[in-house]
Amino acid sequence: MSQAVYLDYAATTPVDPAVVDVMVRHLGPEGTFANPASRSHLYGWLAEEAVESARRQVADLLQADPREIVWTSGATEANNLAIKGVIEARGGGHVITSATEHKAVLDACGWLEKQGHPVTYLTPAADGRIDPQSVAEALREDTVLVSVMHANNETGVINDIAAIGALCREKGVLFHTDAAQSVGKLDLNVQALQVDLLSVCAHKIYGPKGIGALYVRRSPDVKVAAQIHGGGHERGMRSGTLATHQIVGMGEAVALAARLRDEEGPRIAGLRDRLWQGISQLDGVSINGEGAPRLPGHLNVAFAGVDGEMLLTAMNQAAVSSGSACTSASLEPSYVLKAMGVPDALAHGSIRFSVGRFTSQADIDRVIENVTEVIQRLRKVAG
Ligand SMILES: *Cc1c(COP(=O)(O)O)cnc(C)c1O
Repeated sequence: MSQAVYLDYAATTPVDPAVVDVMVRHLGPEGTFANPASRSHLYGWLAEEAVESARRQVADLLQADPREIVWTSGATEANNLAIKGVIEARGGGHVITSATEHKAVLDACGWLEKQGHPVTYLTPAADGRIDPQSVAEALREDTVLVSVMHANNETGVINDIAAIGALCREKGVLFHTDAAQSVGKLDLNVQALQVDLLSVCAHKIYGPKGIGALYVRRSPDVKVAAQIHGGGHERGMRSGTLATHQIVGMGEAVALAARLRDEEGPRIAGLRDRLWQGISQLDGVSINGEGAPRLPGHLNVAFAGVDGEMLLTAMNQAAVSSGSACTSASLEPSYVLKAMGVPDALAHGSIRFSVGRFTSQADIDRVIENVTEVIQRLRKVAG
């Protein structure tokens, strides 16, 4: 009972023991440790085979061709490569994105603006979703890229990527989506979704941190200018020695997620709903993103009349996030909740709970008890 219950799976997950096992077999002197680019010995060939097998695992999940998968250090790098890479390859152009994107997309777009490229930031509806119609209305003659995330990291709200993809295809505009939160949880068929570029990473689905991939469509061919130059790895799009152990870890994590999804999704959603059932017994609580389709593990709750930082400190039985982990160092309320029109006071009193593979019913019940006790105490003090 000493350690707090980990309910921050949206920030990162522990690595699944089955994934650890595969990774360890690609590290030591007895393992497949070699440089996959080494062409002159069996060590290198075996490492290359391991990397290509993992590439197939990721491609299979996306219904893509393995040649469309570019390894990166994570979703941050994949987003940077997609956004800066397309604009550089096209020699400029207008970009449409949304105000609720991850900082990796927003800051890459901000950098483009500094270079003189125009960017439009769409405002979400009150439930957090980006209306495909608002994308259609923002399209200009010079628009070359639309980047709208699949599922939001703070709220779990899911955008209608297929609808946005269809209208981009119709207008001949490239479409990128950040799928770091939805990979392994939602269907990511790139043909059905009509996406041209898609970012994923391993560490939100029980794989290691420091590895991800960008899907880059080959037909019709999408051109992306490299952002990291060197030995010309990954068909010239991303140089650097491939991290064999990280890559096989991602392949295994993706395959495992696909195998478990039908059983795991409903189980996690059930635990998340049980958590809300318990918390909703309190007065003045609401779900941020209510009414929109959401990922199974996310629960972003606004506690009226309570300060989120105080709540986080007092809630010693649950390891959770206020807003997003990436901005929690600042005292600014979450820009995602702000963009959704959540008043500052409520945004300040909002907490993201995220349930995952290793969460039990007993964990949930312990957290409900802790939240209830703490909220009642804080509200009594506040008078
Ligand atoms: C976690 C996350 C990222 C960043 O991924 P890294 O692999 O940590 O760089 C980007 N976008 C979203 C939506 C995320 O949840």
